[in-house]
Amino acid sequence: CLVGSEMCIRDSTMTVDTITSSKQAIELEDKYGAHNYHPLPVVLAKGEGVHVWDVEGKKYYDFLSAYSAVNQGHCHPKIVGAMNSQAETLTLTSRAFYNDMLGKYEKFASELFGFDKLLPMNTGAEAVETALKLSRKWAYEVKGIAENEAQIIVCENNFHGRTTTIISFSNDPVARKNFGPYTDGFIKIEYDNLQALENALNSNKNIAAFLVEPIQGEAGVYVPSDGYLKAAKDLCVKHNVLFIADEVQTGIARTGRLLATCGDCSCVNKNCSGEPDVKADILILGKALSGGAYPVSAVLANDDIMNVIKPGNHGSTFGGNPIAASVAIAALEVVQEENLAENSYVLGEIFRSELSSFAKENDLVKSVRGKGLLNAILINDTEESSTAWDICMKLRDNGLLAKPTHGNIIRFAPPLVMNKEQLMDCISIIKKTISEFNN
Ligand code: PLP
Repeated sequence: CLVGSEMCIRDSTMTVDTITSSKQAIELEDKYGAHNYHPLPVVLAKGEGVHVWDVEGKKYYDFLSAYSAVNQGHCHPKIVGAMNSQAETLTLTSRAFYNDMLGKYEKFASELFGFDKLLPMNTGAEAVETALKLSRKWAYEVKGIAENEAQIIVCENNFHGRTTTIISFSNDPVARKNFGPYTDGFIKIEYDNLQALENALNSNKNIAAFLVEPIQGEAGVYVPSDGYLKAAKDLCVKHNVLFIADEVQTGIARTGRLLATCGDCSCVNKNCSGEPDVKADILILGKALSGGAYPVSAVLANDDIMNVIKPGNHGSTFGGNPIAASVAIAALEVVQEENLAENSYVLGEIFRSELSSFAKENDLVKSVRGKGLLNAILINDTEESSTAWDICMKLRDNGLLAKPTHGNIIRFAPPLVMNKEQLMDCISIIKKTISEFNN
């Protein structure tokens, strides 16, 4: 390439644009980025705790937390400190060599969540893929299913990520269409339907696992009936089928417990009541495992399952890197030190009680549902309507950022470091915005 010649695609003094307005940033993304998202038109430039600021300096409450990744609040100093100090020491070794952070992290997280071992990955979808592969290998090598015959039961309206295998068992046409051919080996049943699970288990001897979200987040924060998860786990035990909990969104204190399927983990929340303990055979974590600072995900299981994985079976260049390990330790310590499960439980009760009363006197809000600080309001309109989007635009104007999960459902998931005064302020913004919208 002759720099400066017409043949050269790149000038030698190529510079990066300076962003001076939200409009400019949106135009750049629109022109140069793939259109695989439809963001709310707000351009964020800074975050701290429960707040974010746009390019023009306007301050907002973040009521989405990057889909429950920023549970510990934006730029938590302990997490950022751990990340910076590790970044100055050692960033990546690959798993060709050992590093001095990974074992510490694996021990800490395994003991915290009550499992023998952890397999480190980066994104939620990768961790889900890992869990699927792990359960299939277990089915062939331990359960004794004939090769290539294993089936995994999944739920309708699931969301587990975006890989080709994962979308193969999605029933969202937008996520699936024209991405085939799809991966075989999945049986889809209705969520929160024990009879459907029992029928599926009875009708096929080749079931390796049941993959389930303890609350269906992307589908619109669907909370299953009390006792569903425990009864589903019992059915899995009866049929020698692995119970896989995808806690990428519900985990790390989001629902008012360390895990929504709180087993014998050392849960810090004294308010743990209601749903009985359910110990997953395979636990999938992501998002808030790093407090949103870095892509960190993990699969946890006991030795009888995890030991089917041998060198060369599975891996990732970045999985278990020293930055990820130190960030995850710090992020989990913050959850314990700041009692985030308990705070999420207490504030979640207030949130639902306030908005349920509001729903009784406001025609636009049909209901509120959720657990801890993972909640949604159902808007009195059709799924195809733009009402939830229009309300989110008004919420933005009034200083609170949330996003619809469907045309008539708005998810509310603030950072768990929120205090009661801030929550009451947010509740009053939500009530005021919806009341104005009604008129
Ligand atoms: N599983 C669940 C339950 C999720 O909510 C998500 C993301 O929203 C994923 C998996 C995928 O995670 P990621 O986007 O990090 O791949």
